[in-house]
Amino acid sequence: MSLPDVLAGIREAERAAGRPEGSARLVAVTKGQPVDVIRSDILAHGTFPLAEGRAQELRDKARELPEAEWHFLGALQRNKVKYLRPVSLVHALEATWQAEAIAEAAQGWGHAPDVLLQMQNGEPQKHGVEPEDLARVLGEVRATGLNVRGLMVMAPYDQPEAAEALFRDTARRAHDLGLSELSMGMSDDYPLAIAAGATLVRVGRSLFT
Ligand SMILES: *Cc1c(COP(=O)(O)O)cnc(C)c1O
Repeated sequence: MSLPDVLAGIREAERAAGRPEGSARLVAVTKGQPVDVIRSDILAHGTFPLAEGRAQELRDKARELPEAEWHFLGALQRNKVKYLRPVSLVHALEATWQAEAIAEAAQGWGHAPDVLLQMQNGEPQKHGVEPEDLARVLGEVRATGLNVRGLMVMAPYDQPEAAEALFRDTARRAHDLGLSELSMGMSDDYPLAIAAGATLVRVGRSLFT
């Protein structure tokens, strides 16, 4: 697989779901990949948002590729917020304090990233906001001034067969909350996520193997 194969897969999933071409956007997950590989395997094919899971790695790569659109999809620690200056979208916000810390740092930056709320997926380690708390956290995060564009979810590692129901549930909740952006689907399950309404698919491994 390579980026053109993944793009073809995305187009095919859009068609199969009766969705307009381009309604699901590829976010290239570049964690662990050196900058020269990002140039040759991703940016040589066009312009795509690049996503990292570690704040310092993002800061370092964004220095070398300042023209790229950068997304952060890791779990955010308070002392790492300062590295997110180049970021335009934070995918995995899971607590109000994270929004407060980003909003405060953003005052010094002169610009703020948009955010997505990560929804809990039922796994024991419980990253994300419990579904029943989404409306409350949405209100709290909006009160910081950040723009909440949508929801993000990850399929549980241990039960991929649960992914489809989870993606459909997430899409329904986003709709009920009036949120339009849906970040869901990775290398193994992005066609399912597109069928359920994903607008951003976060693909890593398939771009580089
Ligand atoms: C690593 C990662 C991805 C990409 O996963 P692949 O299986 O490499 O496609 C997507 N989302 C998050 C949150 C990740 O950490």
